[in-house]
Amino acid sequence: MNSLFFGPNGSGKGTQGSILKGKYKIPHIESGAIFRDNISKNTDLGKQAKSYIDKGDLVPDEITIPMILDRLKSDDCKDGWLLDGFPRNKNQAIKLNEALNEAGISLDVVVEILLDREIAKNRIMGRRLCVNDNNHPNNIFIDPIKPDGDKCRVCGGGLTTRADDQDEDAINKRHGIYYDSETGTLAAAYYFRDIAENNTEMKYITLDGKASVKEVTDELVSKL
Ligand code: FE
Repeated sequence: MNSLFFGPNGSGKGTQGSILKGKYKIPHIESGAIFRDNISKNTDLGKQAKSYIDKGDLVPDEITIPMILDRLKSDDCKDGWLLDGFPRNKNQAIKLNEALNEAGISLDVVVEILLDREIAKNRIMGRRLCVNDNNHPNNIFIDPIKPDGDKCRVCGGGLTTRADDQDEDAINKRHGIYYDSETGTLAAAYYFRDIAENNTEMKYITLDGKASVKEVTDELVSKL
């Protein structure tokens, strides 16, 4: 099963990706990791990408897409893969689709996690970190994991926040790209939704991101 995952920051996309990875024994490929891998191994594409990153420029699609294709052709992808974090805009979706077609790689499933922008932002800004254990989930905006006052709901320890989670401008900027349904990430998702409408080989699945992690996983597994 070859699949593409869409969902805003705060929707639990990464969590669902790693659950599926364990369940179906397929690699969960995050686009950022592909860059880091190519750069650390000093591949030709990695060297080219680094020259853009060092200048603070975006890496062009002409470099990114071949890198992704290389990754999808790796041995561990022969039983399927789950790509997360690419494409980020409609243009990239069109180019990725062309590249997959040319390489004869099928795309079987496209998943979109639905979540209102305001809720997604609250979920990020509501995260609290337990000083005793990073794995104690606390979020002031998610009822089942709401802290006990200002203490960890699991162990009663003190709580802190991560600076990134409180950077509202950065969150708004990322969400601005994601929720742009004309040219941004949602436009990329809808590009595949339109293809799936006329193609019985490709499934487009939407999930209710407001539900709990387990409920979202159950909905996804039942629709696959
Ligand atoms: Fe705790």
